[in-house]
Amino acid sequence: MSAETNIHKVVIIGSGPAGFTAALYTARATLKPLIFKGSAPNLPGGQLMLTSEVENFPGFPEGLQGPALMENFEKQALRFGATSIEKNITHVDFSHRPFVLTTEDNENVLAHTVIIATGANAKLLGIEQEKELMARGAGVSACATCDGAFYKNVDVAVVGAGDSAMEEAIFLTRYARSVTIIHRSEQFRASKIMVERAQKNPKIKWALNQIVNKILVKKQPPLNQEVVNGLELKNTLTQEISSINVEGLFVAIGHQPNTDLFKDALQLDNKGYIITQEKNSKTEIPGVFACGDVQDSIYRQAVTAAGSGCMAALDAERYLEHLGL
Ligand code: NDP
Repeated sequence: MSAETNIHKVVIIGSGPAGFTAALYTARATLKPLIFKGSAPNLPGGQLMLTSEVENFPGFPEGLQGPALMENFEKQALRFGATSIEKNITHVDFSHRPFVLTTEDNENVLAHTVIIATGANAKLLGIEQEKELMARGAGVSACATCDGAFYKNVDVAVVGAGDSAMEEAIFLTRYARSVTIIHRSEQFRASKIMVERAQKNPKIKWALNQIVNKILVKKQPPLNQEVVNGLELKNTLTQEISSINVEGLFVAIGHQPNTDLFKDALQLDNKGYIITQEKNSKTEIPGVFACGDVQDSIYRQAVTAAGSGCMAALDAERYLEHLGL
């Protein structure tokens, strides 16, 4: 990495579709971006590293694996002169210029512009096998838009009772034979209209006052790998245990933007997302831009993240040009 006196034109924090698209565009603009990909406990490559088949990223008619897509993103950015480093940024100082970013090994990196693309994570239930089954595309998902089409004519369940859960359950009825909404109480966070829409849908069943206690699996030929076969539920009022047969579990209990690093440096909204100006990627600090899921609680798709990464790159490029850099 460069010495402290070297001021980078563009430093990108985060390595999902938003970060690498910002890297690709700034690299092609000969700005030699430096990307901090993150390291454990963060996930270099972002949420797509936890998915299997991706069928909705345009340009890949046969679909491809999430990790393979991220490898392509990185290769394409590096080909044009971007540099990526598998380290976390642990502190940012945007109060004077150049901006100062501190790495996990206490090195200071100076930057004229910073593009934040640290993403968000779907909240998970934290039960056994959940993450592993999700990573293999073996019956657990946190994105109905992405994975719903894999569940044609089978029974599935959605956990949660916010707008996302209602929306995902209704969406899943296009494919699934039935969708059971599992919720730990009888109070819904979702808007009344969304709950009513779900209640009117004949394919949707309800398991209220229930939590998922355990994911039940079966071995599936030809590889004999474990896939979801049902759920063990526990009644939150009576503690009674029961089970349902489903082949898919969609977890829709909210998302957590990765913004801890910025809470003293930038304006965040009440859910913790970075506030950007409407229609562009600018934060309230000139020279600091944000893109992808870290500033988007609504669309949350790889392709929208990539699109906003492009916007951040163009915004950074224009800002540098304006400064004569
Ligand atoms: P929310 O935070 O609104 O809802 C989360 C739901 O998950 C709640 O029902 C909560 O239950 C439940 N939950 C949380 N943690 C657990 C857990 N560990 N185990 C079981 N259940 C759990 O998240 P959403 O993603 O639904 O929505 C986020 C925001 O996005 C909201 O403002 C929403 O309105 C908005 N949105 C709007 C849409 C639209 O307008 N079309 C579509 C989707 C989202 P409990 O209530 O018991 O805490």
